Amino acid sequence: MSGQSAGTELRLDGICEGNELCVHAAPDLVVFDEDAGRIEVLVAHPDAEQLPRAQRAVDSCPLRALSLSAPLAQGSTP
Ligand code: SF4
Repeated sequence: MSGQSAGTELRLDGICEGNELCVHAAPDLVVFDEDAGRIEVLVAHPDAEQLPRAQRAVDSCPLRALSLSAPLAQGSTP
């Protein structure tokens, strides 16, 4: 089954210094909020097509401020 990856959540749960490395990795998923001085997650539950970019955004953050929860096994078939 395609579509949203149930249980997979992209979230900011650390200190963001606003270097925008994650924004370059996934501009459709995260955006820099100038007022807040940190990024805002636009797509908290990336679908199967967005998931690789979400992972790249997480991997690009030197502060490990972004995280991507593991998808639930429920309903997923390899
Ligand atoms: S890469 Fe990390 S520190 Fe940089 S803007 Fe994204 S969340 Fe913030």
